[in-house]
Amino acid sequence: MAAYDDQNIFAKILRGEIPNDTVLETEHTLAFRDIRPQAPHHVLVIPKGPYVTYDHFAAEASDVEILDFTRAVAKICADLGVGPVNGGDGARFISNAGEHGVQEVPHMHVHILAGRPLGRMLE
Ligand code: IMP
Repeated sequence: MAAYDDQNIFAKILRGEIPNDTVLETEHTLAFRDIRPQAPHHVLVIPKGPYVTYDHFAAEASDVEILDFTRAVAKICADLGVGPVNGGDGARFISNAGEHGVQEVPHMHVHILAGRPLGRMLE
């Protein structure tokens, strides 16, 4: 796997060099709205640590970072009113990774898409 590139756009957002539309910030996690939204709600959730892909994060982040991240996803869904666990209409969680995953920004992120029927992705 490629080494973490600290010049990627999400690293710049984390350093405050580029503005973002923050939805939630916790000790280890930042969530902000995607600049090219594909649904009424399109939020990107990123760990603050230097992880390139989801599997990198899952393998190397601390338990505290992973719990912080997953609970942040839950809070965003609850705040947006989209999580089925809170009676919402549902959402999709996507993490593109690497070349075949067509990952554009090499800092681990999860897309939360919601607010409209999203159609089937896998047949
Ligand atoms: P992926 O790497 O293909 O999963 O997608 C990266 C996502 O980052 C795309 O949906 C972009 O629209 C989004 N993006 C790129 N630059 C920015 C930014 O500066 N702010 C918010 N979203 C961004």
